[in-house]
Amino acid sequence: MGKMELDLSSFWGPFTPNRHFKSAPRILASAKDMHYTTDDGRQLLDGTSGLWCVSAGHCRQRIVDAVKAQLDTLDFAPSFQVSHPGPFMAAQRIAELAPGDLNKVFFTNSGSEAVDTALKIALAYWRARGEGHRNVFIGRERAYHGVGFGGISVGGMVGNRKVFGSLLPRVDHLRHTFDIEHHAYCKGEPEWGAHLADELEQRIIPLHDASNIAAVIVEPVMGSTGALIPPRGYLKRLREICDKYGLLLIFDEVITGFGRLGKPFASQYFDVIPDLFTFAKSVNNATVPMGGVVVRDGIYEACMQGPEHVVELMHGYTYSGHPLAAAATLATQDLYREEDLFNRAAEMGKYLEAGIHSLKGLPNVISIRNIGMIGGVEVAPRPGAPGKRGYEIFLDCFWNQGVLTRVSGDIVVFAPPFIAQRKHIDQMIDALGKSLRTVQ
Ligand code: PLP
Repeated sequence: MGKMELDLSSFWGPFTPNRHFKSAPRILASAKDMHYTTDDGRQLLDGTSGLWCVSAGHCRQRIVDAVKAQLDTLDFAPSFQVSHPGPFMAAQRIAELAPGDLNKVFFTNSGSEAVDTALKIALAYWRARGEGHRNVFIGRERAYHGVGFGGISVGGMVGNRKVFGSLLPRVDHLRHTFDIEHHAYCKGEPEWGAHLADELEQRIIPLHDASNIAAVIVEPVMGSTGALIPPRGYLKRLREICDKYGLLLIFDEVITGFGRLGKPFASQYFDVIPDLFTFAKSVNNATVPMGGVVVRDGIYEACMQGPEHVVELMHGYTYSGHPLAAAATLATQDLYREEDLFNRAAEMGKYLEAGIHSLKGLPNVISIRNIGMIGGVEVAPRPGAPGKRGYEIFLDCFWNQGVLTRVSGDIVVFAPPFIAQRKHIDQMIDALGKSLRTVQ
């Protein structure tokens, strides 16, 4: 394939250093299973499931066929006042996978919308219960909850917040759980740090008073900030404190949902059940944008108030439950089940664990951690240039090693599709090892 001639001037790339990118663009032209093909015809092993989302591998025929068939039948139908079978069927499949009485599904088109929707449902729920004064949200430092104003308010990645003004007014943050002294080289959940959850009870609740707090929102595993794994017992402790003081607990499962940890959801992996959780990536293998929020029956029922002809929750998106997204969801969920891909992720995650920890001792490596099909390697930042070494490793992997990684500051992350074979994991680890030796 010849290199594509592209005019790069109009597209403003998201979360991309645009000037640098446009000086040497990295263009992906096609994809199949574990690989992308670049516009100059190179094979690139996908070590990141696209962006944590193509978990069943690329261009899977079953999903492609389902979307094409849907397109021949019903291109679009709104779900405001009318609807079509897709979202009902997709919601049922998701509710079947979800734990406990988390049975009601509200569809969005992205993780960011899912987070903002979850926050709004929490507020609507308390108001329906006659406790509308509960409007303080508790997030966490280093959290990534997407880029809506709600998400960046409860989020804690400084760069995502600092130029965007005053955000939501009533938000506080727990400290993050990473501690390099105790967590530098951790396989799975670190043993140290469950007590960090006590800050909720000891500092945050006394400061705001429990009666004002709507919800606590956390990612069970922090992904975008660079694979921070919760200390063993930490999430359970958060749940206990939320129960003790009557606070809603929201899990942001946008990256952990649908098998990333080897279970349908992280809540099942950690055996901690939230009141609401978000999902997006992997729900339909990223074929058509879709996200959503799953809520406990009681939350939905509390909101079902007022005259029957009046909308109970004044919220929704034109494309909530889009026919193509729903069709892709059903086909993806079939694939997960038939190919037993969640168990496969659990198995291959162990292999990834062994591989990634073999990089200990390579130049500049200061921490390695993993859980399920997630592995992160942190390198020491260059003095005065945080993120530069990580970015250069990403570039070296892309241009010279033929592997797509994801980089967050100076942390290089793998989150491979669940269909990865041992040889693919070997290739990723080998590539990163070479880049670590090359980029000093
Ligand atoms: N929440 C979490 C935990 C995420 O990791 C992400 C994306 O990486 C989002 C929300 C935002 O999702 P989206 O980019 O689909 O808006």
